[in-house]
Amino acid sequence: MIRRLVVFGGTGDLAGRYLLPGLAALHEAGRLDADFEIVCADRKGRGPDQFRAWAQTQLEQHAADTPAGSRQAITDSARYRRADIGDPAQVAETIAGAGPVAVYLALPPSLFPTAIRTLRTAHLPPGSRIVLEKPFGEDLTSAQDLNRLLADFVPEQAVFRVDHFLAMTTVQNLLGSRLANRVLESLWNSAHIAEVEIIWDETLTLEDRAGYYDGVGALEDMVQNHLLQLLCLVAMEPPITLSERDLRDRKVDVLRSIRPLTDDDIPHRTRRARYRAGAIGERHVPSYIDEPGVDPRRRTETFAEVELAIDNWRWAGTNFVLRTGKALGTDRKEVAVHFRPVPHMPFGHHGTTAPNVLRFGLDPENLTLGLNVIGATVDTLVPLTMTAPIQPPDLPAYGRLLLDVLVGNPALSIRADEAEAAWRVVTPVISAWSRDLVPLGEYPAGSPGPAEP
Ligand code: NDP
Repeated sequence: MIRRLVVFGGTGDLAGRYLLPGLAALHEAGRLDADFEIVCADRKGRGPDQFRAWAQTQLEQHAADTPAGSRQAITDSARYRRADIGDPAQVAETIAGAGPVAVYLALPPSLFPTAIRTLRTAHLPPGSRIVLEKPFGEDLTSAQDLNRLLADFVPEQAVFRVDHFLAMTTVQNLLGSRLANRVLESLWNSAHIAEVEIIWDETLTLEDRAGYYDGVGALEDMVQNHLLQLLCLVAMEPPITLSERDLRDRKVDVLRSIRPLTDDDIPHRTRRARYRAGAIGERHVPSYIDEPGVDPRRRTETFAEVELAIDNWRWAGTNFVLRTGKALGTDRKEVAVHFRPVPHMPFGHHGTTAPNVLRFGLDPENLTLGLNVIGATVDTLVPLTMTAPIQPPDLPAYGRLLLDVLVGNPALSIRADEAEAAWRVVTPVISAWSRDLVPLGEYPAGSPGPAEP
C-alpha cells in the first residue's frame, strides 16, 4: 500500500469537498497506515497555519459525519507546499521522498498535458501512481494525446482516470442486483425491455462553478463520463470476475457496440437547452447567462439528452435515454428500466396495464419495482411498489476511490481505451451541436426542462 499522497491542486474545491473528507473516512475505517503522509500543493504560497485552518474548515463542513479524531488526524498528517505544476524543479521537490507516491492531479483539466510532461521529467519513484480527475480530455483527439503522453512513461496499471460514480455504493448495487438475481437477468434483454432511462436531473444550479462548468456543459460534464459508465453497467455482459480486466473489457464492449450517431440522427436523438430565470421552490434563480463568470457567447448547455441504440444481440431494439439537467424543478437521479407490455390481457383490459418499471434510485438510494396486481374479479389496476432501503455505504465514493489508488486496484477507474471509446460516442454530438444542427432550447429554472419538440 502506498503511504504518500501528493495532491496538485490540493487547496481547490475538489480537495476540500471530497479528497480530505475521503481520507478522513479512510482513517476512521482504519485503512490508512499510521505514517501516511499527505502533501497539498498549489501556486498560492500559504503559510502552514493558514493551510491548517483551511483544511480544518473544509473537514468541518464536508466531513461533519466523520468523528473529530479522524478529521484531526488528517489535518495533522497533511502538509502544504507551494509548487507550480509547470515547474519541474518545484514538482520534483514536492514528490521527493522514500518509496512510491500517488500523485493526484486535482487541477484544471487544461493543465493535464503540462502536468504529465512535468511528472515525466520529475522521475517518479518506481511503483508510483497517477490519478487524473475528469474530464479526461475535451474530445477524442485530446484524450488520445493524453493517453500517449502517459503511456510514454507509466504503465497503464499505474494510471487512475477516476469516475467517482463507479465508486458509489448505489452504482455497485446496480450491477450486484442485476447479476445476483435470476429473475432479473433472464429478462435483461431487448425482448423484454423497451427502454432504459439513465437520468441525473438536479435542482442544483451553477453554484459558483462557472470557471469549470461554462467551458464544459452538461454533455461533457455528465453524459460523456458518469452516464455512459452507468449505461455500461446496465448493458454489459456478465463479467467472469470483477477484476479490473474482466470488468473493463465488458464495459468497452458496450461502448464499442453503441451505434455511432450521424448528423442525420442527431437532430432527432439529442436535445440541448439552458435555464433561464425562474423559481425552484422558494428560491429565485437567475438565468444561467446572468450567473457570475458565464460567457453567453459560449452557448453552454445546462441540459443534455441523448438517445442511443446498442447494436448487439442482447440489446438491438431497446432505446437508451441518457439525460441530465441543472436547475430543474425536482431531483430525479435514477436508472429506470421500462419493460415491454404483456402480449395479451385475458381480463378484457385490452392491453391497458402500465408496463412494469424497475427503478434503481441513485440519490437517494433505493430500489423500486412497479408491479401490476390484477385478479379475475378486479377490474382496476393496482400498482404495487416495493421500496427497499439500501445499507448506507461504509466509505464515501472518494474514500473508496482513494483506497483503490493506494492499494493499486484500478478496476473502478477508466482504462485508456475505455476513455477513448466514450469520447467516440459523444464527439459527433459535440460536433453537430457546435454547428447548430440542434437548436439550443431554453427552460425556466424550476421547470421539468425544455418542452419536447
Ligand atoms: P478549483 O479551481 O477549485 O481548484 C484548482 C486547484 O488547482 C487550486 O488549488 C489551484 O490553486 C490549483 N492550481 C491551479 N493552477 C495550478 C498550477 N499551475 N500548479 C499547481 N496548482 C495549480 O478546481 P476544482 O477543485 O473544482 O477541480 C479540480 C479538478 O477536479 C478538475 O479537473 C475538475 O474537473 C475535477 N472535479 C471537480 C469536482 C468538484 O466538485 N469540484 C467534481 C469532479 C471533478 P492555485 O490557483 O493557488 O494554484
